Amino acid sequence: MEPLHGSRLGQIDQDKTLELSKRALGILHDVELQGLISNKPRELPETDRARQVFVNRNLRLSNIDLIGFDMDYTLAIYHQRRIEQLSYDMTLQRLIANYGYPAEIAGIIYDHQFVMRGLFVDKRHGNLLKIDRFGLVGRAYHGRQPLTEEQLKTLYRNELVRLKNPEYAWIDTLFALPEACLFAGIIEKLERDLGQKLDYAKLYDDIREAIDTVHRDNSLKEVIRKDIGHYIFKDPELGPALHKLRSGGKKLFVLTNSGWDYTDAVMRYLLDGVVPEYPFWRNYFDVVVTAARKPDFFTGHEPFLEVDPTTAQVKTSGEPTALERGKVYQGGNLQTFERLTQHAGERVLYVGDHIYGDILKSKKTSLWRTCMVVQELEDELNYTFGRSDEIGRLSEIEILRARVDDEIGKHKALLNSAERKLERDGLEGPPRQALEDERKRLKGELDRLRKAYRETNDIAEVLETDVERGFNPFWGLMFKEGSENSRFGEQVEQYACLYTSRVSNFLFYSPAQYFRSPRDLMPHEVAGAPTAKLAPLGGEGPPKGTNSA
Ligand code: IMP
Ligand code: MG
Repeated sequence: MEPLHGSRLGQIDQDKTLELSKRALGILHDVELQGLISNKPRELPETDRARQVFVNRNLRLSNIDLIGFDMDYTLAIYHQRRIEQLSYDMTLQRLIANYGYPAEIAGIIYDHQFVMRGLFVDKRHGNLLKIDRFGLVGRAYHGRQPLTEEQLKTLYRNELVRLKNPEYAWIDTLFALPEACLFAGIIEKLERDLGQKLDYAKLYDDIREAIDTVHRDNSLKEVIRKDIGHYIFKDPELGPALHKLRSGGKKLFVLTNSGWDYTDAVMRYLLDGVVPEYPFWRNYFDVVVTAARKPDFFTGHEPFLEVDPTTAQVKTSGEPTALERGKVYQGGNLQTFERLTQHAGERVLYVGDHIYGDILKSKKTSLWRTCMVVQELEDELNYTFGRSDEIGRLSEIEILRARVDDEIGKHKALLNSAERKLERDGLEGPPRQALEDERKRLKGELDRLRKAYRETNDIAEVLETDVERGFNPFWGLMFKEGSENSRFGEQVEQYACLYTSRVSNFLFYSPAQYFRSPRDLMPHEVAGAPTAKLAPLGGEGPPKGTNSA
């Protein structure tokens, strides 16, 4: 069909394209070639989907020379409940001792289920919010009380929650979970139980400052260091995974905000003596940068300083002219790093857990490729995998329900038109009777369709809530809000080239792996478009978003 505005299409030589595609298919269907293509999708069993590397943007590992790692929550996987409880207890004590909060708050229990990464704190109204990718508030709690639909509408109907709005704070690292829980718990206790009036913004700022000092004055780290094994999970596959990357010719570096002392203690625990070729953790890495002050590292001009690894004191020799293997540095900045290492841009892959400080900031200020470690992925995927039958049935119900909905629309239009005809056309006798019968039939069918829609709608809501609550009774799935991606999920999709639950998952892939993103189709490319119909060679490809080893 000629478009109304005239066409800009050029001429296509269809004979030539047919000939070329036949030639390509001929090559690809060659029996010998087919024999060379592995049918085995990957080394990981299907049940270990939770440990795959997922791909938002194509990345060819063979094009990467240098791979950097953040430490906390990236190389070092913390036992979440234990470290959160510790940081919660310490902050609570400080709020009472240094900020004048009443002793009653000491009794508030840390509920690890009540918080998840990606929530927002509304400092104006004292609420915790979960937001979808458009910035719409999907659910909210004031203290420990859920907001009703009515309250949600009143407060947030006309507002999209934006990351830059200072009235909101984003709980974007796992280190920040205790502060969200304290915020809700203290509001519940002081306002609801004790009837006090609260300045929510001040409460949040006090909590933030208290938790900040717990980190900065090293009191949290001192406790962790006394019993590292209690707080940090030693992943036996971490050393082998790093070794595999090194054997594939990659240089590795550490870039962490933790200071040298703590970094050394944690890394020794994780890696010393794990693989015979690397007696000491520093043997794995070509550059070690501590106290890096990310995200400012990516934008600032701090000099690199060399640290004496035995005394942990900064050497006074001034800014180094090279970042040498075997030495330890602190501070620094992206520009100098690229100049001194002579590795830059998209040949560098940085692996971190903090969506803002590690991933978003590096993506926006450099050409570095990014991989985000999301340790919660394992729980979320194992959970959805375990309930895949129910989730499958739920989507089937949703598809059928949408068809019923379409049919309701069509029936309504037909019924309207029959009724209008009966009113307007003044029919008599058998023709009128026939139309009356038609109207009656349509009405009966419409009633049945509507009833089916209502009933299945109610059932679907129950099933959906059940699936969501089964994962987290307060907030549902971390990557989803209702049927949309959550704000957190959307940020991961936008800024992380790859994402995975732990660094050791790279062990399942070749150091030359081509990580391919599932083909991202826009809505106009999907239904019925020829591009969507192209069948993968040799039948089904690997599941969407996965890669062969
Ligand atoms: P990285 O993830 O290895 O870059 O290091 C994170 C560092 O930031 C750890 O040393 C944490 O103790 C520290 N950290 C986390 N949250 C805070 C905070 O709120 N204030 C100060 N330091 C923090
Ligand atoms: Mg980290």
